[in-house]
Amino acid sequence: MSAVLILNYHRVIEDHLWDKTADKTKFCVKRSAFINQLDFIQRREIPVVSFSDWLNNRIKDTFSVILTFDDGNRSDYEIVLPILKDRGLAASFFPVISFIGEENRTSWEQLKEMEALNFEIGSHGVSHENMSEMAAGAGELELELSKKTLEKKLEKPIIIFAAPFGQYNRKTLQMAKNANFQKVLSTQIKINRGHKAMVLHRWNLKHTTKIEAFEKMLTKGSRLYYKMSFLSLLKNRFSRLFGLKIDSLLSK
Ligand SMILES: [Zn+2]
Repeated sequence: MSAVLILNYHRVIEDHLWDKTADKTKFCVKRSAFINQLDFIQRREIPVVSFSDWLNNRIKDTFSVILTFDDGNRSDYEIVLPILKDRGLAASFFPVISFIGEENRTSWEQLKEMEALNFEIGSHGVSHENMSEMAAGAGELELELSKKTLEKKLEKPIIIFAAPFGQYNRKTLQMAKNANFQKVLSTQIKINRGHKAMVLHRWNLKHTTKIEAFEKMLTKGSRLYYKMSFLSLLKNRFSRLFGLKIDSLLSK
């Protein structure tokens, strides 16, 4: 079983423009903070994997990180993409259909270019409405229309839905299944242990997230991995010999 921490970013802002940017939200991060976080991941040699590698079981038993970017901000293309390309890191982007092409948002051409570079694209809805408060018909439309539009423009299957505001309910999950999405992403801070569940959890990074907290979370993930590896080893080596039942330990 693989332990994966999915990091969720929004807009990245150049440090020298930070004070001059009026429309910042708590989810905007400075370029230098983003770089420091990537530096830590790479210094610790924590693998940065893609959803497709993880969901298709192409990563080994290990602790990995997935990078995601919501809302389709222009900084995805202008700031994040060059950094990721330079470092050879995988990432997934979740644009909102009705935002595409707006000022400060990515365009279809940019999304196509990112997709051609093997970055994954998923859906973040059509209108960025809270799915858990939507009438069923409107919710279905959000899911189906966003999926179809992205698939038509990008000519690739769209299988992951990042729920706007991380909000969803049982109906949302059923509708997402009906619309042939394989996964729904939340914004609950949790390390995912395996990918069997329909909902996968993410950590929403803010500009108030201290690097110490970031390092602690990733170290916790690494420790979880070592604990799981150790217990897996015990299980494989000794369970047959002694008939030990340590599955329950593994699931703790
Ligand atoms: Zn969003």
